[in-house]
Amino acid sequence: MAKIARVEAFVVSQALARSFHFSQWRYDRRTVCLVRVTTDDGRYGWGEGYGPAEVVRAGVEFFAPLIIGGDPLATGALWQTMQARGQDFARRGVLLAALSAIDVALWDLKGKLLGVPVHVLLGGKRREAVSVYATGLYFDDGPHLTERLAAEAVGYVEAGFRAVKMKVGLGVEADAANVRAVRTAIGGRAKLMIDSNHAFSLREALELVRGVQDCDISWFEEPLSPDDYEGYRELRARSSIPIAGGECEYGVAGFHQLFGARAVDIVQPDICACGGFTEVQRIAALARAHFVHLTPHCWGTGIGFAVGLHFISTVDMLPGRMNLPEPFLEMDRTENALRDELTVPRFQPVDGRVNVPVVPGLGIEIDPARLREFGANVS
Ligand SMILES: [Mg+2]
Repeated sequence: MAKIARVEAFVVSQALARSFHFSQWRYDRRTVCLVRVTTDDGRYGWGEGYGPAEVVRAGVEFFAPLIIGGDPLATGALWQTMQARGQDFARRGVLLAALSAIDVALWDLKGKLLGVPVHVLLGGKRREAVSVYATGLYFDDGPHLTERLAAEAVGYVEAGFRAVKMKVGLGVEADAANVRAVRTAIGGRAKLMIDSNHAFSLREALELVRGVQDCDISWFEEPLSPDDYEGYRELRARSSIPIAGGECEYGVAGFHQLFGARAVDIVQPDICACGGFTEVQRIAALARAHFVHLTPHCWGTGIGFAVGLHFISTVDMLPGRMNLPEPFLEMDRTENALRDELTVPRFQPVDGRVNVPVVPGLGIEIDPARLREFGANVS
């Protein structure tokens, strides 16, 4: 039986041709920590962590010695070993992202060792292709932002996306004007979601809900601080727009707090941060028990996108009926060479859907030469 021989972390980074920002900070480059777990007979799996890449790398190096020599098929047991060593210091946060990156790599490896795709390990896919929504419509410093956002949204619709998510968080008045312009530009051709990245107070969020309630918004994502569970509960009770959140939440106990507060209509765990495949299965079970819809947050390389694809291919909407809408997966459309050029295949939507890989593991490969070009110290 193969044993785990190496756990390596690689930080890859690429400067952006054009910086962009959202309500919290500006992006000038994309940087991600990848993980490769290799067995003593030379087989390997890939993972990635969502969070500050150098900190994720330190976390991976912290956990790695705990699983060297372990059985790569024992994903749950290895997860427990790592979590037990980390929980005194980081029940939530970036150490969980490091654990997630290793867990995802182990699931990729396990699928390859057993000769089955990850969605088979998860219990089997419910659909051959997954509906994706376009995430874009960030802010820039150029003139005519509103017109630029409207044109960008039209571009996604013309590319076949049936749903588009835009940023808000500049301020209630400016946001409402931008949302209205985007909705007017795309008409009824696509769903439209808004995301403030926890930019607002409860009063501001309610004001924005009132300002855009005739714009047919499918969800208002992260309206409030992720710590303001009571605020979420009140907003959700008073908002005509469904409330989404959870990309800053970690571990099943964190999500238990979110669900217990009846904070969200749609929960958005990032599988590469919340605890990997091992933990998101528990989070999905909890979401199911609370009748909360799940659509993963996904904002990394092709590895992270493949992770979301496999997982969401196995998930159904609730409560269950014929002709239910399908769950969505987030598809980042901002400039990101790490997403587009590092992994093969390059995932592309056709009519707003992406096919689920059917080869063993996650179904992605990485060219070591490309890794080096993006700054990874890889042999
Ligand atoms: Mg978001």
